[in-house]
Parts: sequence; structure tokens; C-alpha cells
Amino acid sequence: MIYLDNNATTPLAPEVREAMLPHLSGEFGNPSSPHAAGMAAKRAVGEARARVAALVGAKAADILFTASATEANHTALLGTLRALAMERPERRHLVTTAIEHPSTLMLASDLERQGWRVTVLPVDGTGTIALADLRDAVTPDTALVSVLWANNETGAIQPVGAAADIAQARGALFHTDAVQAAGRLPIKVDAVNADLLTLSAHKMHGPKGIGALFIRKGVPFAPLIHGHQERHRRGGTENVPAIVGFGAAASRAAATVAEAGGLAILRDRLERGVLAGWPGSRVNGEGAARLPNTSNIRFADPQGRPLDAEELLMRLDRAGIAVSMGAACASGGNEPSHVLTAMGLSPAEAAASLRFSLSRYSTAEEVESVLNEFPALYARIAA
Ligand code: PLP
Repeated sequence: MIYLDNNATTPLAPEVREAMLPHLSGEFGNPSSPHAAGMAAKRAVGEARARVAALVGAKAADILFTASATEANHTALLGTLRALAMERPERRHLVTTAIEHPSTLMLASDLERQGWRVTVLPVDGTGTIALADLRDAVTPDTALVSVLWANNETGAIQPVGAAADIAQARGALFHTDAVQAAGRLPIKVDAVNADLLTLSAHKMHGPKGIGALFIRKGVPFAPLIHGHQERHRRGGTENVPAIVGFGAAASRAAATVAEAGGLAILRDRLERGVLAGWPGSRVNGEGAARLPNTSNIRFADPQGRPLDAEELLMRLDRAGIAVSMGAACASGGNEPSHVLTAMGLSPAEAAASLRFSLSRYSTAEEVESVLNEFPALYARIAA
């Protein structure tokens, strides 16, 4: 199989698997236990925490492990908003963007139903927010601004450093979902002055079911799950094998950021080849600063009408090539992508889009094999 769906999830790196294995067999202690087995587990969790912290230039004590980035996003928003509701009740306004992951957008809708004021910023045709819109949106009652670092569908990179400045100048906190950016761009919490930052292991060749939230010291925070673990910020016995895997993946990811130039060359070759081989195809998000691994392309039929990309996806799948629909939606159904429609695409254009996402394991040979499929696919679909 040629796997070009790395923004959905990535294969586990062999070195990550190796690091996890002892913790799936002999090393099974509970980090809260006072005996040697417990102490060993506690040490392993501590080392992994330091590795994840190093990836984003944070202090280990400011990293909280969660069961997913979905949970980390919920923890960031709910943990701060609920704490602020007690400390500064006048701040009941959340600002976010139309291109967030559903884990943020669905929660934002729920918060609105519960009485918080919510502003969802639009994006331009490249899938990027305008700082002027953010400046207009942030008011003295704004508690939190949440802007994702890079979008999972188009790869569009957002101006998070400037967004943090705007939020903080008005006394609001700033959170960024850096799930897709980590390991692909240099991510440092101090470079953008983030108060909170979300990560997920399985997008960087780590295991599924483990995320992390950076919470800067001093940020008002009320835990969602009570318990003594994670310095009383998230109860529940730690998932030691997954945390150790996350640590190993983070160390490797820190090194792969330096290799991102090679990944971009490969992505560009794929993108140019697809565009050349398919008349009427266009890059969604063209002109934006983009992640080096992501290409979102919309396809037209020979008459220039938006194609049903699902048919193309299925044909690629039958040829052993895994890509995804730009139209994959929050519920996994057939709704047009909220990201692409926010960029101004019609529902039909959104449904005509495919996302290709590469990883450090993608090769030039794989890219050529994919490109070799396209003339025949075009001929068949055009027939
Ligand atoms: N945020 C972004 C930008 C994502 O792309 C994803 C995964 O698709 C998530 C959050 C959720 O990650 P997890 O699968 O760890 O809940």
C-alpha cells in the first residue's frame, strides 16, 4: 500500500514500538505505587514528559498528558473558561476560527448553547484568518482565543504568534491546536507565546489514544477529571506504554523538522504531477503558507464540472493508494468539508477534493507510482 493519509494518522515508528514494548510486558507498574515497579513507571513517564516538553520548548512540569488531542482541546477550553468564570466572571467570550478541528468547533457550539459568547472567525480563499478580524473580535470580555497552528485538511499555517499578541494585549488567554504542525514545523511555545498548546502522538508516528496539553504556569485552570495524577490536573492512572511511545515519537519528531525541506520537495513533485495530469484540477489553499506534507486538490470532469472525488478515492484505493476526501466531515459522513466551504468553495467543489498527506516514510518512488496511475484514471473517469 502507498499510504498518503498521514494527516489522519501515521504508522507507528519502529523505534517507538521498541520503546513501548517493555511497558506492555515486564514493566507494568503503576506510577503512583511506592515500590520499585511503581517508581520505574514513574521515571518512564517523567522521561517521556521531558521529551514531549523538549519538542515544543516547554518545561516538563507544564505538560499534561491526556487520552487524545480531542481531550486536550476540551481541557484547554473548558479548563480555562471554567476557572475564569470563577475568577473573572466578566470574561465569557471565546474566539475561535471556522477551520478548527471538530473537537474545538463542536465544543464551541456547545459552549454557546450554555451561554458563553462565541465568535468564529472566517478565513480567506487560501484558508487563512485575517488578523484584522481577530483584532475586531477580541473585546474586554474575551476569555480565550483558540487558533489552530496548521489546518489538517489544507495544511494552511495560521499567524499564531501575531494572534497570541492580539489576544494577550486585551488580557485574553491564547490556545493553539498544534497537532498537525508538530514534527513538521518548528514549534516553540515561547516563540508564539502560547498559554496553551495541544499535541497528539499518533500524528507523529506515535501510538493512538495519547495527547498532551501544554499549560503555561500561572494560567487559570480548573481540572475536568479529578484525581491526584498529573499534578491534580487530570485524574486517572497514566497510560504508561502510550506515554513512553509519545516520548519516543516526540524525540524523533524534533529531528524530522529539519528534514521538512525534503518532504516539501516530494509534496511539490506530487502536486505538480497531479495538476499536470488532470486538466482543470486546482490546489485548495494555494498561496497560503502550508505544511510541507499536505496537498489538497480539487478535480474537475472533462466538461470542467466538479468531479465526485469519492469515485477517484475508491479507484486509488483499489490501486493500493490511500488518500482521503477533502470532504471528510466531523461525523465521518458525506457532508461537505467545513474547512473548504469556509474558504468559499461550493459544496460540489468541496466534494470534488482529495487530500494527499505525506510522511517521512514517503518516497520518491511512491510519488512516481501515484503519478503513473493518473493518466489511466483520467481516461476512465472521462470516458
Ligand atoms: N486537532 C487536529 C488539528 C487534528 O487534525 C486532529 C486529528 O485529526 C485532532 C485535533 C484530534 O486528535 P486525536 O485523534 O488525538 O483526538
